[in-house]
Amino acid sequence: MLHYQTIPVTPFQQNCSLVWDDTTQTAAVIDPGGDLERLTAAADAHGVRITQIWLTHAHIDHAGGTATLARQLQVPIIGPHPGDQFWIDGLAEQGRRFGFPQAEVFTPTRWLADGDTVELGAYMLTVRHCPGHTPGHVVFHSADLNRAFVGDVLFAGSIGRTDFPQGDHATLIASITERLWPMGNDTVFIPGHGPESTFGRERRSNPYVGGT
Ligand SMILES: [Zn+2]
Ligand SMILES: [Zn+2]
Repeated sequence: MLHYQTIPVTPFQQNCSLVWDDTTQTAAVIDPGGDLERLTAAADAHGVRITQIWLTHAHIDHAGGTATLARQLQVPIIGPHPGDQFWIDGLAEQGRRFGFPQAEVFTPTRWLADGDTVELGAYMLTVRHCPGHTPGHVVFHSADLNRAFVGDVLFAGSIGRTDFPQGDHATLIASITERLWPMGNDTVFIPGHGPESTFGRERRSNPYVGGT
């Protein structure tokens, strides 16, 4: 079985998720923005070994601890999409601005593109490219878990900011309606911040994408 636990990290309370497979007792960390000792402690508590880092996008609160964790554990960095290269290049600068001690530049072991898959044990998650908040933003969809890890694309009752460099509102709306909604109304999503919701609930009531 696949399992997951969401661990809010950093002063931004970013929802880092530990996803693990209890057959192989291996885990992936999605968006290790910081507070790395809490992430490794969670893996220890579940008796699993972190073998991969998956990134939705390269904002500091999501990617700030990536280089340090990858070096500590000697694990590959998978994602995001190459559109976020400039955000990765700016990580140290973002870190200085927001007081993130662990923020370092890194090179992903593997970049992701729309339609790619990532694997954990016998399980496969589908990657969708969802630009708009950042140009290289991806989301991870597990049909087995009926869950999507969507970073800062969509929130319960809101959507991601688009006022950053290369952010674009219309592109974000298209990502949500064309790439998230087809995952199904009953799919539960884990946003980058705040509580979980379902796509169906957001389609009914989200003021930004309701009725789409
Ligand atoms: Zn972000
Ligand atoms: Zn964020």
